[in-house]
Amino acid sequence: MLTAEIIAIGSELLTPTKTDTNSLWLTEKLNEIGIEVKLKTIVGDDKSRLEETIRDALKRSDIVLSTGGLGPTEDDITRTVSAQAVGRELVYLDELEQDLRERFKRWGREMPEINKRQAFIVDGAEVLPNPNGSAVGMLIEIDNKIFGILPGPPRENQPMFTNFILPKLREKAGEIYVRRKLLRVSGIGESAVDEAIAPIYKSYSNVETSILFNKSEIELHLSAQSKSESEADAILDELANKIVDKLGVAVFAMNGEKMEEVIGNLLKENKKTLSIAESCTGGLVARRVTEVSGSSEYFIEGAICYANEAKIRSLSVPKELIEEHGAVSAEVAEAMARGMREKAQTDYAISVTGIAGPTGGTEEKPVGLVFVGYADEFQAKSFKILLPGDRYLIRWRASQAALDYLRRQILKKMQ
Ligand code: AMP
Ligand code: MG
Repeated sequence: MLTAEIIAIGSELLTPTKTDTNSLWLTEKLNEIGIEVKLKTIVGDDKSRLEETIRDALKRSDIVLSTGGLGPTEDDITRTVSAQAVGRELVYLDELEQDLRERFKRWGREMPEINKRQAFIVDGAEVLPNPNGSAVGMLIEIDNKIFGILPGPPRENQPMFTNFILPKLREKAGEIYVRRKLLRVSGIGESAVDEAIAPIYKSYSNVETSILFNKSEIELHLSAQSKSESEADAILDELANKIVDKLGVAVFAMNGEKMEEVIGNLLKENKKTLSIAESCTGGLVARRVTEVSGSSEYFIEGAICYANEAKIRSLSVPKELIEEHGAVSAEVAEAMARGMREKAQTDYAISVTGIAGPTGGTEEKPVGLVFVGYADEFQAKSFKILLPGDRYLIRWRASQAALDYLRRQILKKMQ
């Protein structure tokens, strides 16, 4: 597999206000043709550091792409430094100067003399035209390696890369297609997931698997390489199915869908309706459900009942239940779900009550304690979890737990 590295050039990229986005775009394009980006460097407009970076890059990578520093001003040093780094001269091309003069004329301006600098290229480099700006790019082939030098602005370097560098790289990389798949898992820890599935994914040498923990769920990123797109997809599907066989219902998405989308699809498929009663999540569960377009088909009503009186008044939670067990309890979570379901006349209702913190916890009921309730036409039930994190994370994780609980109940009923 060919390896690439990217050098983003410009002192502004080392300030807190400007982000290097060029390398993200280039990485995506390189990955699509099966080229792996092994390293990215951001270098300021500093001659010695840039020269050292380019030299090192050409030693270790098959493909080196730089962006930025091709402007006409004193701080734009990519042209001269690249020439030094590869041990070649800069040569002046008259046609480039004439081209620049024409360009300025079309803009109704006289070309400033400093723009002459942009008529110099590294000896032996292929000139990459730039219809969107004054700086041409360069492509240097050296020791069976490719060094592409691109201007900084995305609207200039993207067409240049696509038109003049990508075809060369595709040829060099051969016919390789990379396809990706994103599985999402809920209700199991990261290490447990890895322990269970490592023996499976490790047997696929042409698939790269990475496991990421994201707030309340685990993401399994699978990326397969093959000679054809359909073959790569087939490999991914096979691996994904084996993972599902192992992890079972914990895998809630096979194609990157969000939990609220999965819930929406399940409710639509089964022609069922939902209502939601929330205390500590303050409407977050309903917000997530309604972020899905088309949710009006199945989502009927939500209630944020924060105070005890509200739970009693709006959800018909018996006062004695709260007095006896407290608002954060299995009994109250179930009563909230039951009350909500009756009020909204839905097939399902879910509820959340808990302590999001950072204040309000006790020894018996600590911060992070959450009860999720569920009600359908036959029953009301609940489950208890102790969630780690700050207020934001506890609320988010509680919303996820509630949706996942509902998902598992619906799946059970479908069996
Ligand atoms: P330069 O070619 O260094 O004169 O850069 C011109 C402009 O391109 C900069 O002012 C930025 O707006 C943009 N630019 C340069 N490098 C990057 C980068 N790595 N990511 C995004 N934008 C960039
Ligand atoms: Mg610059």
